[in-house]
Amino acid sequence: MRSLAGQILISPVRYIEPHAHMVSRVTDDYRAMVTAGCLAVCEPAFWAGFDRSSAAGFYDYFCQLTSHEPKRAAQFGLAHYCWLCINPKEAEDLTLAREVLPLIPKFLDRSNVLGIGEIGLNKNSRNELKVLEQHVDLAARHDQLILVHTPHLEDKRKGTRLTLEVLRNDRRIRPERCIIDHVEEHTIQMVLDAGFWAGMTLYPETKCTAARAVDMVERYGSERLWMNSACDWGVSVPLAVPYAALEMRRRGHSPEAVDHMIYQNPLRFLGQCPNFKPPAAVA
Ligand SMILES: [Zn+2]
Repeated sequence: MRSLAGQILISPVRYIEPHAHMVSRVTDDYRAMVTAGCLAVCEPAFWAGFDRSSAAGFYDYFCQLTSHEPKRAAQFGLAHYCWLCINPKEAEDLTLAREVLPLIPKFLDRSNVLGIGEIGLNKNSRNELKVLEQHVDLAARHDQLILVHTPHLEDKRKGTRLTLEVLRNDRRIRPERCIIDHVEEHTIQMVLDAGFWAGMTLYPETKCTAARAVDMVERYGSERLWMNSACDWGVSVPLAVPYAALEMRRRGHSPEAVDHMIYQNPLRFLGQCPNFKPPAAVA
């Protein structure tokens, strides 16, 4: 590694945060992200840290994601987008899932909706698989992009393999319109080999550190790959993406390579959704 001591490692960066749970963050986090160069933030629907008691809780959450949160981000000039679904954990309750899924199409014409996500598996259960198939069908019928969550609790490799099978079994689904998130060293290869996009989630304790993420970039290349902070209600870092950019620069990656990874790649994937407006065109 060549030494960059004394050089400015990170001249102003621009980036897209492709996966952040902003409803659980304070407003100061928005300010910090914009200050660090964030031009757009995308928020998948996820577990709130507790189980909701009814489908009405999801209706309110979808309103929050499509109406309230974009206004909070706009205070800082930040574009806010979202994904909709019933998360894999609560999808274990088939009765609840049956009530929540029909709510989703009503929200798909909202201007900040990118697709169906984050769907997938939590404990690789039969019920979760069933609801995953229903979500994939919903996405296919409405021509939506798909964002997939892969398990942390149970076997990630098995969960990823099962998810890829579901997606490949539906002939309407095009891999280049799906991103498989939270990949790690033992799952990234199978995702990329199958033609899907892969996401690396940067967490301080679990999932993937910046150093491991940059190792993967160096090993597998930066095509069809993005980084996100997934910052949520747990221990997580809203600036994890620019911190990983700093790690890339520290190792001697060029500013262009960093831009490719944290700005151009999310732009390329998300640009497949007509609702996603390239930040430069918005400014
Ligand atoms: Zn998430």
